[in-house]
Amino acid sequence: MNRILVALDVDSRAKALDLANTLRGAVAGYKIGKQLFTAEGPDIVRALASRGDRVFLDLKFHDIPNTVAGAVSSAVATGAWMVNVHASGGTAMMRAAAEAATKAAATLGTARPLVIGVTVLTSMDEAALAEVGTSRPVMEQVVHLATLAKGAGLDGVVASPLEIAAIRAACGPDFIIVTPGIRPAGQAGRDDQARTLTPAEAVAAGATYLVVGRPITAAADPRAAAQAIAAETA
Ligand code: C5P
Repeated sequence: MNRILVALDVDSRAKALDLANTLRGAVAGYKIGKQLFTAEGPDIVRALASRGDRVFLDLKFHDIPNTVAGAVSSAVATGAWMVNVHASGGTAMMRAAAEAATKAAATLGTARPLVIGVTVLTSMDEAALAEVGTSRPVMEQVVHLATLAKGAGLDGVVASPLEIAAIRAACGPDFIIVTPGIRPAGQAGRDDQARTLTPAEAVAAGATYLVVGRPITAAADPRAAAQAIAAETA
């Protein structure tokens, strides 16, 4: 299966659609994050979803349960295939998100999106966690939040390359693990990613989907770059 979700980290609809058109059929879907969504709004999600594209709407909702449920319902109406929320929002919030996805999809007669949790932001280390009152080591907190996410009915989590194996062991074979920080073996630099795995290593560790940005979007031939990664992880 093709596991690549390409990060459309661009600032305009035109650039996003251009990339999507170039990559259609060579990737599993597109990730729309806060930059593109804030610039172009839900229309860009609708534009892709209405073409049959899978869109991972990476807005990391984190609010009171009722508000997150409303946001997820609105995301379902855009046709998003995957949405995410912060697991640190707690069980009630995650449960509200999962239930809203089911309910909105049934009401609209559309497919229910996958609801994924964000555990610990990879920008946070142990000192940053301690600062906000969490004394566990990062890896323990990640596995704790992933387990909480599973218990609350979420479909999976986003995880850094180093966390995949521990989450897979704790949460079982059917739990979805979405992993950024992917750098193909032949690539010289890692950009600003501190911890990376190659696509094949990430899949071997247990990743379900790979979020890949610059190794594809900044390549001389983005479609060929995507096809090479897909071949490595088929
Ligand atoms: O260009 P690159 O492959 O580094 O892009 C990775 C994408 O995954 C970006 O959209 C980035 O924001 C996102 N991401 C990440 N690390 C995380 C969570 C998300 O790189 N921990």
